[in-house]
Amino acid sequence: MSAGPAAGDPRADELSRALEHVRARIAAAAAGRPEPVLIAVTKYFPAADVARLHRLGVRDVGENRDQEAAAKAREVGDLVDGPLTWHFVGQLQSNKARSVVRYASWVHSVDRPSLVTALGKAVGRHREAVAAGDVAPGPCAEDDLTCLVQVSLDAAERRGGAAPEDVVRIAEQIAGTEGLRAGGVMAVAPLGAPPGPAFDRLREVSEQLRRAVPGATAVSAGMSHDLEEAVARGATHVRVGSGVLGPRPAVG
Ligand SMILES: *Cc1c(COP(=O)(O)O)cnc(C)c1O
Repeated sequence: MSAGPAAGDPRADELSRALEHVRARIAAAAAGRPEPVLIAVTKYFPAADVARLHRLGVRDVGENRDQEAAAKAREVGDLVDGPLTWHFVGQLQSNKARSVVRYASWVHSVDRPSLVTALGKAVGRHREAVAAGDVAPGPCAEDDLTCLVQVSLDAAERRGGAAPEDVVRIAEQIAGTEGLRAGGVMAVAPLGAPPGPAFDRLREVSEQLRRAVPGATAVSAGMSHDLEEAVARGATHVRVGSGVLGPRPAVG
């Protein structure tokens, strides 16, 4: 008797249905324009779910805490056969840079010059350690680490992101740092305000950045509840957690 890979795995069926729904939403919002990359944000969900998503064709996953992400990436390495790209999307302390560069190909949350410096040093040390045979090569042993500048779209609250007027300067620092690639911008829409105008602003910031750093074309915007607004305004990457994986388990 032959059985498909998802036979007897209700969770895989659940993920498959949710993924199909999210992909349909993205396609409808793109309305014939190029579709963004779907990053499944798997925080709080186990490595087994990452493996299930990979079997369903997901190639990009996102995490927001280094400790959880590092452990999961190690575990997933044994479960998944084939390419998988890890995106770090959460606030990042500089002292976690050395860990993040071991598994992540992208960091979406670069918001200050000191973090650029830390990530550049971390990639350099990682490459030295790989060359010395001390650690397994992560993705940035060969490719530069793609860094997005996180932009704060909330004029009242500058938490989580650089001010729009600082974006070009930070991206130029990234572009000038060995081991790093300036990829573009990322933002989270402010709470309690309509996301459309915020993503319009992000698009302006992105256009300004591309005039200064032409390769920095990525626009990471849109989550489960506002991906339509982001895709309609040219997001190249959407970060979808609960829409694909379901409500996050309560944690203490
Ligand atoms: C958790 C998270 C997401 C996904 O959020 P959902 O609302 O579950 O889709 C996207 N971006 C960042 C930065 C996150 O931390």
